Amino acid sequence: MSHPTAPVLFPLFLDLRGRRVLVVGGGSVAARKVPALLDAGADVVVGAPALGEALATLAQQDRITHWPGSFVANWLDEAWLVIAATNDAQVNRAIAAAAQARRIFINVVDDAELASAQLPARVQRGPLQVAISSGGASPMLARHLREQLETRFDAALGPLAQLLAELRTRIRSRLTDLGQRRAFFERVLAGPAQTLLRRGDAQAAWHAIETELHATPPPRTGRVALVGAGPGDPGLLTLRALRLLNEADVILHDRLVSEDVLALARRDALRIDVGKRVGGDHDATQQRIHALLLEHARAGQCVVRLKGGDAFVFGRGGEELEALRAAGIDYEVVPGITAATACAAYAGIPLTHREHAQSLHLLTAQAKDGDADHDWRALAKPRQTLVFYMGVQGLARLRDSLLTHGRAASTPVALVENGSRPQQRVVVGTLAQLPELAHVHGVRAPALLVVGEVAALATRLHWFGAAPLGGAHQRCPHAVLARAA
Ligand code: SAH
Repeated sequence: MSHPTAPVLFPLFLDLRGRRVLVVGGGSVAARKVPALLDAGADVVVGAPALGEALATLAQQDRITHWPGSFVANWLDEAWLVIAATNDAQVNRAIAAAAQARRIFINVVDDAELASAQLPARVQRGPLQVAISSGGASPMLARHLREQLETRFDAALGPLAQLLAELRTRIRSRLTDLGQRRAFFERVLAGPAQTLLRRGDAQAAWHAIETELHATPPPRTGRVALVGAGPGDPGLLTLRALRLLNEADVILHDRLVSEDVLALARRDALRIDVGKRVGGDHDATQQRIHALLLEHARAGQCVVRLKGGDAFVFGRGGEELEALRAAGIDYEVVPGITAATACAAYAGIPLTHREHAQSLHLLTAQAKDGDADHDWRALAKPRQTLVFYMGVQGLARLRDSLLTHGRAASTPVALVENGSRPQQRVVVGTLAQLPELAHVHGVRAPALLVVGEVAALATRLHWFGAAPLGGAHQRCPHAVLARAA
């Protein structure tokens, strides 16, 4: 049996003013579709042997035209759009075929298969509309979303949109620059206009917007926000980060920032991927990032420097702030959920534990010039959790350093690849097996390494994505756990 998949439909808003729309069918199904068409100013013709009460009234009022009789193809002659709403599947099919032959878009009520156009669920506030489609996958889901949105949008948005439409030419001629207009809209939205409209005082609202239009706006000063984007799951962004992503004129992001997070950013913001190294040279890349930050902030823009995880945890955030401070540019820092806490949470590894770990170390497996120089003797002590960032390479040396300084070969380890993302993988085993574990399972960046007794708990406490994969020689993870206990 083949399972039909829902198509991804192309959204489009039609200007139907004065354009003919043919509705075939005179019953209640057709009657439900007609008012929205009339609202859009369409020239509605209803073709049907007879009209039900609601449509008959509209016909008497001359708001629609009634063509009596059964469907014939030349009803389509002047139509821009057709809605087949008869209760006869055969007739609907014939209408669909005729419309198809003439390349006229057709909606067949309750039959997505036959239709070339679907009517979305929608949320409407005056001319402002949100249309929702599930591509026929689940009208219920679309409706559910609509209900949620319905409660979120203030009723005053409709009249506000209307007011702004009336003022549009004046706004455009007074504020010629896009940035100025955006700032003006932000002030209008933050101002009293909506409250006044909610009270029905359109006059006062108009006045408030007028005043704002003629106010001298504060000069735009550029600023930079260093924002932690978290590990990938967009649900782990902070509210402040989300807000800034929507205000940003320019977004400079790393390779580690997930597409799902970027999808939440303002659509018309300039996005610069600074993740690619300039000829493989970290320092040249960093210098280029500093130059870009200064350039855009000096141009008066709101710049978001978006970094994977937290900007101050192996993120070179400090260096960027130094550069901004030296140039006298205003900045703020928004913390993000760092890979250590995120990967641990999504893998079911408590980083500290009353029995297993009394301290937590965040380490990097790499330093500016080669291997990191850690106090291995201290790190080799039991009952502490070590989290290594950037640790897919050099695992053999890392293991050897810990083993030579006395950490037990049976110490549990976990590698978390793509933590918090749909592709997350967790591999568990022992310190002795570490390099083979990574090799056998083909672990790739971004991956985080957790060393310590707590790592074994992933086998029991995991909840996100697939269960942890076991060790290379140790197929049964329970044995690892037993040894760790
Ligand atoms: N500032 C970032 C870390 C940057 S260093 C933070 O706070 O998370 C880059 C390293 O972070 C990667 O090599 C990897 O070890 C780790 N990392 C970041 N995101 C990760 C993720 N989603 N899953 C696993 N490891 C991740």
